Amino acid sequence: MLKIRGRIQHYAWGGHSYIPQLLGQPQNPEIPCAEYWLGTHPAAPSTVIAAAGSEQEIALAEYLASNQLPALKFLFKVLDVRDMLSIQVHPTKAQAEEGFTRENASDIPLTASHRNYKDNSDKPELAVALSDFWLLHGIANDEQITSRLNRAEYLKPLLNAYMKGGTEAAFRLALDTGNPDTQHMHQALAADIVAKQYAKTDILFWVQQWLRKNPQTPNGILTVLFMNLVHLAPGEAIFQPSGLLHAYLEGQNIELMANSDNVLRAGLTPKHIDVAELMKIANFNSTPPAEFIIDTQSTEQGELRYPTPFPDFELSSWNPGQLASPHWLVEQPEILLCLDGTATLTDIVSGSAIVCEKGEAVLIWPGHTVSLNGEHFQVFRARNIA
Ligand SMILES: [Zn+2]
Repeated sequence: MLKIRGRIQHYAWGGHSYIPQLLGQPQNPEIPCAEYWLGTHPAAPSTVIAAAGSEQEIALAEYLASNQLPALKFLFKVLDVRDMLSIQVHPTKAQAEEGFTRENASDIPLTASHRNYKDNSDKPELAVALSDFWLLHGIANDEQITSRLNRAEYLKPLLNAYMKGGTEAAFRLALDTGNPDTQHMHQALAADIVAKQYAKTDILFWVQQWLRKNPQTPNGILTVLFMNLVHLAPGEAIFQPSGLLHAYLEGQNIELMANSDNVLRAGLTPKHIDVAELMKIANFNSTPPAEFIIDTQSTEQGELRYPTPFPDFELSSWNPGQLASPHWLVEQPEILLCLDGTATLTDIVSGSAIVCEKGEAVLIWPGHTVSLNGEHFQVFRARNIA
């Protein structure tokens, strides 16, 4: 086992204090810190922290390969969402493979803004709220959608499209920025709601937030009207399978996902929306959020598991107040991340120990039995499933 160092992603929607505080780094009001990545994705690979006295930092992927250890099947993240993210959807494995090959064949650079597929993996995700957390998750039911679309006469074209062709047809119209009906609906909606007061439980609160910050970019704003608005209390968790539309709106969370960065956007974004590709990937059927809220399971050793249908990786945690000295046999590579307190990780056979402070992460090799000791620590554990 050894300590590893992740990378911060400075996306514009990120907060300024949560991640620097977690990592014990200085805060800079000019530089947002949106995500902290632990893993081997080439876009922001983690490194192994070399022994004292050695200057060299080794990439985690190289380190795993040179020690004949299995590759990580996951990307482990901390997110701090200050401004809402785009409505997005992730492809299945087959769609990702096809799209990645196609875009490579078209010589679209991996860093190009219109590149959809940055790798050939699907990206199932789960998220555990670390604060009150707000998100859009899946398509609302018919009653909710018709009630939202009936609230104003100017939304009539969208209601008509929905009544004729369902959510998919309505998305097509909502994303057709060259269509005069769509342009008129954008303007009328903005004018209607800009000065009103909404509670956070009202989906128009979030539409209004977007329009206040991005008055020139109503891109995809109407698609919000078709989505479920979900609030998670700290500790609650939810998952997003391939094809499920979602957008993080506000708060901090821990995310675990397949090792991928493949995103198709459907709204709330100044970025390019590839409507044709989105239509192929997104699931437009109504999906009740309750079906995706994770039923946590507590083990005898006080470990809180977040089971999902995803076959490749699993997330669990120990939170303050839970049994303080669990031990387990490590069967696949694991990463532990300490979010609070101090935890001591001990290899029971060799007796070697590593002290993990707030913000620190440890890679544990398979084949070792380890124990975790300390008081009032909060530690998240991400691991491959064979
Ligand atoms: Zn996502």
